[in-house]
Amino acid sequence: MSAATTSPHTIHNVDSITSQTTEFIVLGCRAGSPGEGSAASGYLIRHNGRTILLDCGPGVVMELTRLGFADHLDAVLISHAHADHCADLVALAYQRLFPVPKPPLPLWGAAPVQQVLDALDAVFSIPTLPALAHPLSRAFAFMPIPTAAPFAVADLLVEATPTVHPTLTFALRFAELGLVYTADAALTDELAAFAHGAALLVSECTYPSADGHDLNGHGHMSATHAGQLGARAQAQRLLLTHFSALSEAALSAHIAAEQYSGEIILAHPSLRVSF
Ligand SMILES: [Zn+2]
Ligand SMILES: [Zn+2]
Repeated sequence: MSAATTSPHTIHNVDSITSQTTEFIVLGCRAGSPGEGSAASGYLIRHNGRTILLDCGPGVVMELTRLGFADHLDAVLISHAHADHCADLVALAYQRLFPVPKPPLPLWGAAPVQQVLDALDAVFSIPTLPALAHPLSRAFAFMPIPTAAPFAVADLLVEATPTVHPTLTFALRFAELGLVYTADAALTDELAAFAHGAALLVSECTYPSADGHDLNGHGHMSATHAGQLGARAQAQRLLLTHFSALSEAALSAHIAAEQYSGEIILAHPSLRVSF
């Protein structure tokens, strides 16, 4: 049992958790761009010795390298084709191919991610180095995320459901772990149902307040919405992430706590949450 699980109705950061077989690790938790000491969106799921990279926004490869995971990935999942969730795939491709090429890494993504890979291949090709002539298609074995049935990623079954967001975006559920990741999403009945019963609900919380933001039109959640999602899903723990400003994360936690009475955890780089 982690320190994060000992006291409901509390708001705090968790820096170090006892080693168990499953961990959720934050590489970056900033919406839009890296900044304030954090990469953009990127997380690791470690389970039974396997490591899945979940989203790969700018700055994530630096964090992967800093934490020693860059050479130990088994699969990649990309929730959607916005730059703050996938722009570092080109850095990861170069990292995997230079100087010694590694085998292609399985990469599941929303279908538009294929277009991103093709575009990056065209722009960042280095024809004089054979391994880097088509770096993205060489580094990754792309598969579109299916929605008809669960699919296996590094021995874990994953379920996906589309969210309300301007491009095809998938919330992801790892039922064996009790883990749900909203990706970028507006609050909807469908999302609350998809997240129902999560042991750890990782929810975007882009803005502390909805003021001035078209949350339903653009597809994001305020802190109030994230708290409401946690409550409606009856989640055991709510991990808030994808902050437009890290400096406002504590404020977001307090606002979310007005809606959700369980434990709220704030994402920050290097946060490790054990299961
Ligand atoms: Zn985003
Ligand atoms: Zn997005």
